[in-house]
Amino acid sequence: MSEANWAAHRARVESLAGALTDSEGPVRLRKRTSNLFRPREAVDRTELDVTSLNQVIGIDAEAGVAEVEGMTPYVDLVDATLPHGFAPAIVPELKSITVGGAMTGLGIESSAFRYGLVHHTVREMDVLVADGRVLTCSPEQHPELFFGFPNSYGSLGYTTRLRVDLIPVTPYVRLEHTSFSDAEQLFAAIARECEQPTCAYLDGVYFAPGEFVLTRAHFIDALPAGVEASDYTWLQQYWKSLHERQEDYLSIHDYLWRWDTDWFWCSKNLGMQFKPLRFVMGRKRLNSITYQKIMRASHHWPLSMLQYFRPRTESVIQDVDIPIDNAAAFLAEFENQIGIRPVWICPFVVPDGRFSLFELRTDTPYINFGFWDMVRSSEPDGHYNALVEELVARHGGKKSLYSRSTYDESRFWQEYDRETYESLKRECDPDGRFPGLYEKAVGQR
Ligand SMILES: Cc1cc2nc3c(=O)[nH]c(=O)nc-3n(C[C@H](O)[C@H](O)[C@H](O)COP(=O)(O)OP(=O)(O)OC[C@H]3O[C@@H](n4cnc5c(N)ncnc54)[C@H](O)[C@@H]3O)c2cc1C
Repeated sequence: MSEANWAAHRARVESLAGALTDSEGPVRLRKRTSNLFRPREAVDRTELDVTSLNQVIGIDAEAGVAEVEGMTPYVDLVDATLPHGFAPAIVPELKSITVGGAMTGLGIESSAFRYGLVHHTVREMDVLVADGRVLTCSPEQHPELFFGFPNSYGSLGYTTRLRVDLIPVTPYVRLEHTSFSDAEQLFAAIARECEQPTCAYLDGVYFAPGEFVLTRAHFIDALPAGVEASDYTWLQQYWKSLHERQEDYLSIHDYLWRWDTDWFWCSKNLGMQFKPLRFVMGRKRLNSITYQKIMRASHHWPLSMLQYFRPRTESVIQDVDIPIDNAAAFLAEFENQIGIRPVWICPFVVPDGRFSLFELRTDTPYINFGFWDMVRSSEPDGHYNALVEELVARHGGKKSLYSRSTYDESRFWQEYDRETYESLKRECDPDGRFPGLYEKAVGQR
């Protein structure tokens, strides 16, 4: 790895640490994109501009790792690794998700049934804490912070550098889509794959009761003679193809970003299922970054006025993790009580149970259910999000905190290990320059 890259990295971190120690009072990150889906209260905080910490420092193909700055979007990390025949072990689906954001925010993807969540594939990282120190953390150095960082959402400090695992990949993948009508059978097939994988990547979609598709992706070096790779980056939509095909071929690049073009299927809320609109938008604008911009604009006047002309709704945008044995029961109750469809199904294993703020069992695979939509509601605001929390708890699961949470404080800390968090907060941020986790996740700081 180039010494010049390391020197430039150290200079950027020094400058960020300087900006932190030169400022006073509460701070927050400033970056160009975000995948948080909870509104932020307007609070007077110094904004720390971290946008320049977005470089891949180097790739060590022999060791199978990349050294990467905390605010690097996965799209750039993937672009840097693919020419070497590697990809990060876990590549979250949305191009703008950053490596640091995924480390603290429980990043996941369809290789998680082999490797676990993003934080299970990070070997070491540097964390800038409130007094300007940069702590190198790993299972051996500052282990409490290393294991306490996932699910801390920037409330303990910011990761400026991470050493992440890479896996060898091939130029193409062959996709095998299998339909299931029975949830128990689907989850049994997933459990077998977690036990003894037969494919490289695995995920599924719940479309309706009795309508599931499970997708296995297999590495292949070249396309079969006479076959062309599919293209879902413009007029065709990947999620629709799951119904239409049993077999498909994609370049590895397009596979890794298959969900980004249409924000899974959420782009349909913006009319992107209409081909003339897709045509006009063009490939470049069909991506999650565009949709985030539209969504944020819709919260401002005059677009926000539209809400008065629509039926009342509640936004339910959540990812929840349920032990696989409870997955079918959870989904049936979710269908009855909330009813959002489709639902993304992403299995994962837990190779290490020491991550204290998001404790998971190591003796079972989990299913991550992702659902992102508006629910028509005549209930008090927050009713459906609270229902999700209740369902998750009843089925022995955990809910991630990137979106809205309604827990009261004592309930919240039953879920997320108050003792460890408070001890880390005292060490990393005794004066509360970063917002606390509860204030951030529930109080929307
Ligand atoms: C519709 C939707 C679908 C999603 N789907 C997926 C998915 O399929 N797979 C997946 O893995 N995730 C998914 N996510 C969740 C996403 O990974 C998390 O929200 C993640 O934290 C976002 O990272 P970001 O880099 O965009 O950070 P941001 O959204 O900018 O920030 C997220 C939080 O992390 C903190 N943070 C950001 N960078 C750092 C850093 N370097 N150090 C410390 N703290 C930091 C911020 O302070 C903030 O609290 C989804 C989110 C949405 C809204």
